[in-house]
Amino acid sequence: MRDFPDPIKRLIEELGRLPGVGPKTAERYAFALLKRRGEDRERLADAILDIGGSLSTCSVCGNYTEENPCPICSDSRRDRTFVCVVATEQDLLAIERTGEFSGLYHVLGGVLSPADGITPNELNVRELLARVSRETPTELVMAFDHTIEGESTMMYLTRLLRPSGIRVTRLARGLPTGSEVGYADEVTLSDALRGRREVIREHESSTA
Ligand code: ZN
Repeated sequence: MRDFPDPIKRLIEELGRLPGVGPKTAERYAFALLKRRGEDRERLADAILDIGGSLSTCSVCGNYTEENPCPICSDSRRDRTFVCVVATEQDLLAIERTGEFSGLYHVLGGVLSPADGITPNELNVRELLARVSRETPTELVMAFDHTIEGESTMMYLTRLLRPSGIRVTRLARGLPTGSEVGYADEVTLSDALRGRREVIREHESSTA
């Protein structure tokens, strides 16, 4: 069987590592790139190289940024008593786009998933606890996907934060089960933020 030349094979292999890109799509992307003019291709290559250069993560919230602290953390107009805990940077952006949230964020870097080897040590949990005792916010809103991993991460953090006496809330149930924060539309996400409720009280009333 005839195979693609090695450079194309390598490109297909690398593209195929991206989330949601199967072998067929990787092939399609690779050939679309081959058809691009040299300078077009260089721009893409430059953009990819750039993310390794000027980008770092904010030492306060863990968000990707070119300045440290990031523009959100250093914005004096934001409400410092209110921190939204999200799994990923995409979730942060989804909430930011609603225009509904004026507090700060904490990017956990994922959700707990013991089967995939994601334990609290792999996430910015220690940083969150240190931040809570340093900055003493009054409310933390947990904005995780409505999935088993999202729910268990939320319960884990809520239990961990309980001794601090801080109010821990969650997004309202408006977000359908299995739905992802980063892909929810702005109206649904705004409603979910506005209708947020306390985690412990809700959990206790459901187990009482
Ligand atoms: Zn930040």
